[in-house]
Amino acid sequence: MKKLIEGVEQFRSTYYAQHRELFEQLSHGQAPRVLFICCSDSRVAPNLITNTDIGELFVIRNAGNIVPPFGSANGGEGAAIEYAINALNIQQVIICGHSHCGAMKGLLKLNKLQESMPLVYDWLKHAEATRRLINDSYPEASGEELIEVTVAENVLTQIENLKTYPVVRSRLYQGQLEIYGWIYHIENGEVLAYNPETHAYEHPQSQLETYHPEVGPAPGHYTYTDAPPIACERPIPDEEPVKPTANRPWSTSDIPSWLTPEQARRIYDGSR
Ligand SMILES: [Zn+2]
Repeated sequence: MKKLIEGVEQFRSTYYAQHRELFEQLSHGQAPRVLFICCSDSRVAPNLITNTDIGELFVIRNAGNIVPPFGSANGGEGAAIEYAINALNIQQVIICGHSHCGAMKGLLKLNKLQESMPLVYDWLKHAEATRRLINDSYPEASGEELIEVTVAENVLTQIENLKTYPVVRSRLYQGQLEIYGWIYHIENGEVLAYNPETHAYEHPQSQLETYHPEVGPAPGHYTYTDAPPIACERPIPDEEPVKPTANRPWSTSDIPSWLTPEQARRIYDGSR
């Protein structure tokens, strides 16, 4: 605690003093450009790894950078997502997993957690789709490789979970939202970004040319999803998407008509 109290003083006399104008400006309101969803792990520092300033990232953190599917939890995640996109008009979301993630290690031995950490056990059910996918599709993986692939697949699972939120779905439809999947490597400080076209995590610099951060994808097309290429050619649906109203609350049964079977499977497996 002594270290932290001294740190507070040091922050005031150095960083704050050098950025007085920025703090004065931020006291009137925030205008972050990016919603950054990452793990609570102490080794992941969003502003530090992206070299961004105070006020630039709106951050949601929890064990395993998890986004509970819409309607499946009453936690703060949904409220923060809604606020970020609706009130702050944020148009870019990054879901950032990281190497050596304890939550993902826990997910791989879920049953052992039931007694010792029942709340963690319950929370990780929002990543059940990741666990199931890994079990079914990566039977040969083990050790570090297994954790690595679980981290990578979980980022994609959580992107699908994010898309179950009405405000996210609506903004994607209007071409006003982009969702990115990242992995941060603790051991070398490197970030890799998911490229839906190659279905691989790559150096984000290599994607700068093809990404258009200022302009969203054309309506009805998902440029930045991990869906297979065929989904990008999907025409704008004739039917109006079902919208939640006061008389007709949103339910997960509304989801299938918009999603590919793969997306629906991930979401449903994750919300059970
Ligand atoms: Zn973690």
